[in-house]
Order: sequence, then structure tokens, then C-alpha cells
Amino acid sequence: MTELIKMIENARYLTCFTGAGISTLSGIRDFRGADGLYNDYDADKIFDLAYFHKDPSYYYRHAREIVYTTDAIVPNVVHTTLATLEKRGLLKVVITQNIDILHQAAGSKNVIELHGSAAKHSCLTCHKSYSYAQVLEDIQADIVPKCPDCGGIIKPHITFFGESLPAGALERAIQHAQKSDLMLVLGSSLVVQPAASVPLYCLKNGGRLVMVNQGKTPFDSLFCLHFNDLQSVFEALALHF
Ligand code: ZN
Repeated sequence: MTELIKMIENARYLTCFTGAGISTLSGIRDFRGADGLYNDYDADKIFDLAYFHKDPSYYYRHAREIVYTTDAIVPNVVHTTLATLEKRGLLKVVITQNIDILHQAAGSKNVIELHGSAAKHSCLTCHKSYSYAQVLEDIQADIVPKCPDCGGIIKPHITFFGESLPAGALERAIQHAQKSDLMLVLGSSLVVQPAASVPLYCLKNGGRLVMVNQGKTPFDSLFCLHFNDLQSVFEALALHF
């Protein structure tokens, strides 16, 4: 921990890359872990664009406990400490694979959502935009939200299988990674491409990677420090910063 704190304090361009593992501390179930959602649901179906067109209720029913839970699920010590590091000028950006908007809820301002999020929705027919708050009530009542203007199906701005990543998000993430002399990789098993390749751009340009994640990743040999327990690491960082 002493070494990590020193590295954070001395970093010239510190960034972080976050995945589902940090949301599990907030009570959101992981996708791929031992108790992951993918054991119960056919995740390929929840986030599949073609299936969404066929039956949007499948997404909305299952996404209720992952995405539409802001009243029950609050940011944890990882989110709040990252927001503090940004406020203190130590952290440049949060690059996240998560779609749960918890970084913003904790106060982070500069967040790149590689897979989009449910902060915005829009009508698939007339493209009118709807906020999270506007669709929340229907979803919690188990109703598929429809566009009041044209009756079209409303879809979240989450990147589904079969869709490309939000315009410019990956490019911006790579630019930040290339500038980073230190990147914290938090709660990601680095398997979902192309997002998972982002930390490698830091490494290629001579930056260092620190990993905090339970379980193995394909890139474990590349980290200069590796911790397993997000909660204890960030409780210690929160005390220091
Ligand atoms: Zn519409």
C-alpha cells in the first residue's frame, strides 16, 4: 500500500479503468464471476440487439436489478475515492466498462463510458431522447417504456451485442491511456474486447499498470503491482487521500 500511495502521489498522468468488479461492492451482481448474472440469465440475449427488437421486455425485466436501481444501490468506497482523487487533481479520467452510472453518482466528472449507459434512452422509431428518470417508473412497474409521441420502443444508450461502441469513446480512452504514466485497472477481468485492450496502450507507451481485481486476467504478468481486494485497498486509499 505504501508503494501504491507513493505511485499515485508521484504520477504525472494518472487514469483508471474500471469494470464490473467495482460495482459488486455496491450490491450489483457481477456478470462473469462465480455468482455472476450470466449463470442465471442468458446474457447474450439480454444485451443482444436483434433479440431486443424481437422482445424488449427480456432486457427490461432483467436489467431492473442491474441498471435501474439507483434508489437502492449507492456508490461504494472505490467510486467515492476515485471522485476524491479527481477533485484533488490527481486523477485525469475514469474509463469504465460499467453501465450503472455509479461513478457519476459518486461525483466523478470526467468519465468515459465505453459501453454507454442507461443515463440516456431514445426511441428506436423517432429517435426522441428520454432520461433515466423518465423511463424509470415504467420499468419498475414491469412495463416496457414506449415513446409517448409515436409509440416506438425505447432503448437505453447501452452498447448491445451487435452494436458499435459509442462514437469516439474508445478513441478518447486510448488517447488518455497513451498519455498515462500510471493506470489503475480495477475490477475488470479484461476479457471484453475491444475495451479490454485500453490498458495495453498505457503499457505500450511506457506507462505502468496496477491491478486490483479478484481472480486472474490474461495479462497478469504485465502489472507492476497486483492486489486482490478492492475494498481493503480503497479503504486504505480513502484514509490517506
Ligand atoms: Zn418515438
